[in-house]
Order: sequence, then C-alpha cells, then structure tokens
Amino acid sequence: MPPGKRVGFAVMGLGRLSLEEILPAFAECKAARPVALVSGSPEKARVVAAQYGIAPESVYGYDEVHRLSENPEVQAVYVVTPNGLHRDNVLAVAKAGKHVLCEKPMANTSAEAREMVEACRKAGVRLMIAYRCQYEPFNRETVRLVRSGELGRPRVLEATNTQVQGPADQWRLKAPLAGGGALPDIGLYCLNGVRAVLGEEPVEVFARIVNPEGDARYADIDETTVFMLRFPSGAIANCATSYGAHESKDLRVRLERGWIDLENAFAYRGQRMRIARRKGESESVEELRLGAKNQFALEIDHFAECILEGREPRTPGEEGVQDHLLMEALYRSAREGVPVAI
Ligand code: NDP
Repeated sequence: MPPGKRVGFAVMGLGRLSLEEILPAFAECKAARPVALVSGSPEKARVVAAQYGIAPESVYGYDEVHRLSENPEVQAVYVVTPNGLHRDNVLAVAKAGKHVLCEKPMANTSAEAREMVEACRKAGVRLMIAYRCQYEPFNRETVRLVRSGELGRPRVLEATNTQVQGPADQWRLKAPLAGGGALPDIGLYCLNGVRAVLGEEPVEVFARIVNPEGDARYADIDETTVFMLRFPSGAIANCATSYGAHESKDLRVRLERGWIDLENAFAYRGQRMRIARRKGESESVEELRLGAKNQFALEIDHFAECILEGREPRTPGEEGVQDHLLMEALYRSAREGVPVAI
C-alpha cells in the first residue's frame, strides 16, 4: 500500500517494547506507518523521531494528547505504557477522536477495562488489545487445526509462561503500575491462548499462588501462579506462570487422535510446532514449517486494515474485559483456596 494510504500511528511510551519491537516492526507493515510519538522524555523522543522520519512537531507529551485531534496524519495510537496507566491513556486518546491499539494487560481491573470499552464506543473509535499471539502464524495454525476437528476433540491443554524478573525498582513489581504480578503480565498469554484455541469460555477456574517467603518484591503481587480452567466441552487447561523460573513459553494440546506441541508459543520468535496424528494403530509426527513473519507487524496491520475497512478487530476491548474477569476469579480462587464457578 503506498505510504499516503497507510494508517498513521502515534506510538505512546518509548520503553523497551516500543524501541526494540514495535517501531522496528513498522518496516514490515503493509498498511500502517509511524507518524507521531507520545513520550514523557522529550530528548529521547526527539532522537527516536529523527530515526523514524517523524516530524519534530509530531512529538507530544502525555499532557498534550488532546492535541492529536489537530493532526490528521494520526489515525490511531498504540498505547505502550505501564499497565496501570492504560486506562487514563486510552480515555485521553478516545477523547482526541483517535482509534486505539492498547498493550496487554488491558488495564488493572475489569472495571477499568469496561470503562475503556465504553469510552471508545461513545467516542466512535475502535479499540483493540495487542494480543500479538492471536496474529502469530503458528498460534493461528494451532487454533485452526484444533477447531477443524481433524484430531478429534481437545481434552487437555498445558500452557506455561515463565521468565526470571530482576530487581525490585521496576514498575512491573509495583502493584499500582503493574496491576498484579506474573499472572497479568505473562500468565495472561496462557489464559488468552487456551481460550483462543478452544473458542469457548471457562465455567470453572482454580488457582494457587506460591510466593517466595521474605522476598519484599512479592509482598503485593504474585511470583508464581498455577491455574486450571475447566471448559463446557469438558476440556481442561493447566497453566503455569512465574517470575522465578527460567524462560519457558510453551503450549501443548492433547486431543482424541493426536497432539500439538508448540514450543516458544508465546515468544517473539523461534516457534517450533510438532503435530502427532493417530491413524488406526500407527502414529505419525510431523514438524510444521511456516515462513518467518513478524507478529508485531501482523498485529499492527490487522488493526490498520480494520480501521480502513470499518471492521471489528479479532481482539477487541471486550476480549480484554473477559481476561480481567477471569484473572479476578483466579485471584479470588487463590485467596479462598477453592475453585470458583464463572
Ligand atoms: P518499559 O518500562 O520498558 O517502558 C514503558 C514506557 O512507558 C517508559 O519508557 C516511558 O516512556 C513510559 N512511561 C510513562 N509513564 C511511566 C511511568 N510512570 N513509569 C514507567 N514508564 C512510564 O515497559 P515495556 O515497554 O516493557 O512495557 C510497556 C507495555 O507493553 C506494558 O503494558 C507491558 O505489559 C506491554 N508489553 C507487552 C509485550 C508484548 O509482547 N506484547 C512485551 C513487553 C511489554 P517515555 O519515557 O517515552 O514516556
């Protein structure tokens, strides 16, 4: 698509994800281009703007978001700030009349998430939550294959997302900015991933949180959360997330007539997918090869195409609300030590 026809994005929050993944991904987009920045660090923003050919006058502070309404080049804003700021940021962008792509987790609570959906609806702008794995080709193929019924009904799923989280002086370990610990940050990929694969909603959830004793970093947030989701079809998902265990990001689906192992399912790259198929007494195992694609570019292009074609995105705000409701039920289950019916 010629640059003039592409959807112009402002990127809000120039942290690690924006600088290392999102801004570089625009080079692989077909329907989107970066045209503005919103940042609380003017010096950094000036350098980044120059790197991406963004005009200096298209760099805004957080208190200038209302001025985006005067910039016709900006059609959408990608909110990439700490979780606890998403609500205020999205409300400000909606008020400026721009479409919003918001990083996960959507907010700190389901109440905030609902408020964001409502604000965007009232402002007549589209809202998408950046569940990048739902745009990543191997995850898409897992969804397709499971739902095709070729391997029979899915019975047991396992999803793991762990990575060691470092020093205490970061917003991810502070409840007001993070909203929680490993569960909303990385366990969310397990939760959202198994819901996407099965295409149904859990009717019962159960969780246990185990935090290291005497570690002040985990006084208010969860370090290790293991949780189970039971679905109406009878499928069960066992999920585990931790800020204390070495990186592991895998999704496994066990079905009546086969299995799917997706290594690095929730990673930025490096997915490896093996599929076992049972035919009579024999079993064949195939490794699926797909061309490498940048999942951030696919996600951004999806939202751009939805804006251009007036369609609802695959992962709208309601998807974020549902995950927050489920995470709240998981935290309640862990607190009370009992399964919670949904
Ligand atoms: P960083 O801490 O690296 O960056 C956050 C940026 O937000 C800062 O650099 C700053 O940018 C801005 N900011 C505004 N207010 C604050 C504040 N009070 N404290 C800290 N930063 C502030 O975080 P990430 O880039 O890792 O994460 C940003 C968002 O992206 C989060 O919601 C996170 O969950 C999500 N994320 C998603 C991933 C995915 O794979 N989809 C992976 C990693 C993160 P500036 O100086 O320009 O104002």
